[in-house]
Amino acid sequence: MSFMDRIELICGDITRLDVDAIVNAANRSLLGGGGVDGAIHRAAGPGLLAECRSLGGCETGQAKITKGHRLGASWVVHTVGPVYRGGNEGEATQLASCYRESLALVAGKRLDSIAFPNISTGVYGYPKREAAQIAFDVVRAFLGGHEFPRRVIFCVFDEQNSAIYRDLLGLGSD
Ligand code: ADP
Repeated sequence: MSFMDRIELICGDITRLDVDAIVNAANRSLLGGGGVDGAIHRAAGPGLLAECRSLGGCETGQAKITKGHRLGASWVVHTVGPVYRGGNEGEATQLASCYRESLALVAGKRLDSIAFPNISTGVYGYPKREAAQIAFDVVRAFLGGHEFPRRVIFCVFDEQNSAIYRDLLGLGSD
């Protein structure tokens, strides 16, 4: 089986996905925010915030896992992407670490499926194509060495990321 058989692209709201774990592009407080973070907290309900309060925040490039509460997903992996500051501040290493740490958490629980949003490409300003290439490279490398997660979903929400990921995954345009 090629690793490409374990990768999917879905366009839409990550809070609606029927997967074992969804990834939240959180901030270091882990206490909620805008964008995908706000959407996840709204959909999961107040229990998620209560659980997050017990975690004591999270450093950039790291990840922590909670239950999914009212989400369809059983688990939420909270990871903190870098704010893009021109590219010479270690942002690529930090973004790669977000993907790798998130995958390691779900692999540790032997979960089948995980869905990622396009971390750091919203208000944190990471150039979308570069961010997508990092995401893809880390996922490819990780799947090459691990049986779990069996499936990785890239969940795109905006037109630009949709086009970039279709191109990157060789899906053609439509
Ligand atoms: P960051 O602060 O890491 O940049 P944002 O939430 O601002 O996080 O944006 C990250 C990505 O999440 C963007 O590509 C944005 O289009 C996407 N996004 C926003 N809402 C959702 C959602 N409900 N489902 C999936 N992706 C979303």
